[in-house]
Amino acid sequence: MVKFAIFLKAEMDNIDKLVFNEELIFIKYKCTNCGTESETFAGLDPDEEIDIKGSRGVCNFQAKCKCCSRSFNISFLEKFDYIQENNNKFTKFMTFECRGVEIIEYDPRAGFIAYCQKTPYELDLSEGDWCDYDEDTSLSLEIFGVSSKIEKI
Ligand SMILES: [Zn+2]
Repeated sequence: MVKFAIFLKAEMDNIDKLVFNEELIFIKYKCTNCGTESETFAGLDPDEEIDIKGSRGVCNFQAKCKCCSRSFNISFLEKFDYIQENNNKFTKFMTFECRGVEIIEYDPRAGFIAYCQKTPYELDLSEGDWCDYDEDTSLSLEIFGVSSKIEKI
């Protein structure tokens, strides 16, 4: 079994941490049998338990390769908060266990919460950048330069 991690990098102004709030995780993947890559992003739900065909285990994502018909699956393992200390550095953000498949791309979309001290802000990173204004602290909040990479761990 192979483990993959999504590393996230973002520049955060006046944000203490960025947290992923268990919405769908959008990924592209590649069949390890024939190398065929998914054309579109698929949503993996960390809360959904799917029985693995021909096994007693469960996973969070299961699909069949369009090219070689081999089925593969992915289990979500862990997520990590992106904290201010990691600002603008690639940091491990989520980990997965992959069977017969590799994760090749991640698309951050909705389901993020940014904290300015105690105040949470729900946000969507589809546009890449986000900004707001925190009235309690009179600080302008900004997240920009969001990028990600995938590595085998
Ligand atoms: Zn295949």
